[in-house]
Amino acid sequence: MQYSITSLAKQALRGHQGWPEAFRHPEPQKQYDVVIIGGGGHGLATAYYLAKNHGITNVAVLEKGWIGSGNTGRNTTIVRSNYLLNSEIPLLEWSLKLWEGLSAELNYNVMFSQRGVLDIFHTDGQRDEAVRRGNAMIMNGVDAVMLNRQQVLEMMPLVDENNGRFPVLGGLLQPRAGNARHDAVVWGYARAADRLGVDIIQNCEVTGFERDADGRMTGVETSRGRIGAGKVAVAVAGHTSQVMQMAGIRLPVESHKLQAFVSEAVKPCVDTVATFGVGHLYISQSDKGGLVFGGMLDGYNSFAQRGNLPIVEDVAEAMMMFLPSLGRVRLLRHWAGVVDMTMDGSPYICKTPVEGLYLNGGWNYTGFKAIPGAAWCFAHTVANDAPHKFNAPFHLDRFAEGRPVDATGGGPFPNHH
Ligand SMILES: Cc1cc2nc3c(=O)[nH]c(=O)nc-3n(C[C@H](O)[C@H](O)[C@H](O)COP(=O)(O)OP(=O)(O)OC[C@H]3O[C@@H](n4cnc5c(N)ncnc54)[C@H](O)[C@@H]3O)c2cc1C
Repeated sequence: MQYSITSLAKQALRGHQGWPEAFRHPEPQKQYDVVIIGGGGHGLATAYYLAKNHGITNVAVLEKGWIGSGNTGRNTTIVRSNYLLNSEIPLLEWSLKLWEGLSAELNYNVMFSQRGVLDIFHTDGQRDEAVRRGNAMIMNGVDAVMLNRQQVLEMMPLVDENNGRFPVLGGLLQPRAGNARHDAVVWGYARAADRLGVDIIQNCEVTGFERDADGRMTGVETSRGRIGAGKVAVAVAGHTSQVMQMAGIRLPVESHKLQAFVSEAVKPCVDTVATFGVGHLYISQSDKGGLVFGGMLDGYNSFAQRGNLPIVEDVAEAMMMFLPSLGRVRLLRHWAGVVDMTMDGSPYICKTPVEGLYLNGGWNYTGFKAIPGAAWCFAHTVANDAPHKFNAPFHLDRFAEGRPVDATGGGPFPNHH
């Protein structure tokens, strides 16, 4: 069914009892041209672009739980392309361009809201970094605006303007950035891929790989039996190291936890996405009124999808420093996701040393915004057995070659990125 004002009106007259299921729930076939492991945003979008851009429709997405149960359904939904390096801006900017037309393309409202992302700075060092990054963005054709103190306070009136320790000096704004509804992105891509013939198979955990005598991928072992595959594409985020290890590949990636927080609903008071870099805090307000915010990683490796209390305290302290007038707002929910941190903070979107096995992972805490663009490039890589120019820098050999994509200069320490 095509979603439209007419179909909405028709369903309203029937008491909304006649909506068909958004996608099928097929049994796995014996053989697919491409099997994608992971039913998050990246896996589902890769399936969609394989079918739409490359005509490869005999595709299955295998998800061990339910689609969107990983980080795509757990993140704080910031979408931006305010990056520093020439190697990373084109990919993220392409992704942002796809976001701008995504609801229309998928015929599904992903609630993409271009309310801007404002990085507020409080020290001279932070201002230097913001100016440098803003110039890099402008030179790559990306929108970037430097705001002075007054302009920041007008945009974010709740910021503590009298904070002696962290005075507001200004901000770097990307006006086209913003956020989107994470579940809608999952369901929109799932529905659109399903309509092109892709099988989405939930409750199907991949437990091993099958290779022929030459080492080429021929299929996967799953909790629902063997499934043959011409090619296998992995997009499992926090489980990247575990899944790739099943294929005999030990990756430079660590799994860390990242927490997110939502307050009770309050009247509109934060109408952009604001970051408080010195306190490692970022905040936006959902359309339902909840304040959505988060901080830094928990600080130790784990595959558990729950966070620890010191980070709750840390984030609450940063909130009080940044927006003290919100001190009596109550926290409603909080949760954690398992993020796949690489040695330089940048992803892998590439072929692997195993023929027929491809990898999209290592997104750290930045992969939601990248879903359209990275999946578009990943589908290109799987279909053509070669990278697109936007994802060419994100290969596994970059450390051996001395070409890390390290925007923060954090060095080979995953938890520093
Ligand atoms: C708290 C938090 C806040 C974040 N905020 C932002 C943000 O504001 N902006 C941003 O851009 N990014 C953000 N991120 C990062 C972003 O959410 C992720 O990078 C992105 O969602 C990764 O998408 P994915 O499809 O690769 O992974 P996921 O959505 O995690 O999907 C992977 C799927 O693989 C499945 N899987 C794993 N192992 C197997 C197996 N063996 N067999 C079958 N299936 C398997 C999992 O069940 C999961 O559903 C945040 C992350 C967290 C945790």
